[in-house]
Amino acid sequence: MLSVSGIYYRPPPVNRHTCPVCGDYANGLHYGIYTCESCKLFFKRSIQMNRQYEYHCRNARNNCMISISTRSFCRSCRFKKCLEAGMLPEIVKNYRGAHK
Ligand SMILES: [Zn+2]
Ligand SMILES: [Zn+2]
Repeated sequence: MLSVSGIYYRPPPVNRHTCPVCGDYANGLHYGIYTCESCKLFFKRSIQMNRQYEYHCRNARNNCMISISTRSFCRSCRFKKCLEAGMLPEIVKNYRGAHK
């Protein structure tokens, strides 16, 4: 449980050992939910470098399947899935500077 701008955010009661974005092993609580190390770094880099605005879906349908083997193919859909899974950009921004 962590506090985000005054309100308590409780991670959804899903399998805590599976990354909801790509299905890889989730090694901990990252930016609000349990994800794998790879998605954590992807999400963090996207927010910190403002890359999410440069992402474009590779098949233009914004519905790519994201799995361990395909997660690097479409950053647009992967980022979207991160957000849908509950990852919070605010937490990345709040950490800025503290973890450089
Ligand atoms: Zn993942
Ligand atoms: Zn896509």
